[in-house]
Amino acid sequence: MTPPKIKIESLDFYYNDHRILSDINETIPENAITAILGPSGVGKSTFLSLFNRLWETTPAARAEGRVLVRFSRSFMDINAPKFSVVQLRRSVGMVFQMPNPLPMSIFNNVAFPLKLAGIKKKEEVRSRVTTAIQACGLWPEVKDRLDKKAAVLSGGQQQRLCMARALVMEPEILLLDEPTSSLDPKSGKMIEELMVRLKQRCTLIMVSHQPDQVKRIADHVIDFTPGPES
Ligand code: ADP
Repeated sequence: MTPPKIKIESLDFYYNDHRILSDINETIPENAITAILGPSGVGKSTFLSLFNRLWETTPAARAEGRVLVRFSRSFMDINAPKFSVVQLRRSVGMVFQMPNPLPMSIFNNVAFPLKLAGIKKKEEVRSRVTTAIQACGLWPEVKDRLDKKAAVLSGGQQQRLCMARALVMEPEILLLDEPTSSLDPKSGKMIEELMVRLKQRCTLIMVSHQPDQVKRIADHVIDFTPGPES
């Protein structure tokens, strides 16, 4: 197993007074695919939201405990008050269950995070967008229509475009919440193959409902399936 990228220590998570996650202690290996498994409602998406602090957008939510991420050499507690959430979200990309392209061109969809980050040099933007689209195996399918609306793409192509949009910031961690469950089997297989290739570039954490998918591509599994006593 590769060295740890993330360490979760004594983590409790609440919505109002309702405890969703209790005393979680886990390690997530770097440059590997970690799968989060379990039935609906056990807290898999909530667990995923710890790593980009997306949970903070829910007013009733509260996390206690430590989420330590290794950036460069040292582990940092991403919940510490002085830790920049803007910086965190540049290092942690996310892909959702339903492809969610923005209502703009294929090119601008992938360039959008660069614009937000203040990266304006045309050559740099073009080169990073091209590299990200190529990394997602989408280049041959879109290279002649980069100025067309992203909505013209199929669902599978849109999902790979969303992965390119996440990758253009060269994230260290990529979160994926059931990334293939809205896709046909062929598109799902392409996303799986892409995830396996992406291990060279980043650490992947994926929520999955599909045990066969987890067997095929996961290197490490965190299973939230309740035991018989609970
Ligand atoms: P899973 O991904 O395993 O289906 P979730 O993390 O989405 O589970 O949800 C875990 C539990 O937290 C569920 O009982 C859900 O109803 C509850 N929950 C999720 N989001 C919120 C929220 N914003 N406010 C209150 N409760 C929530």
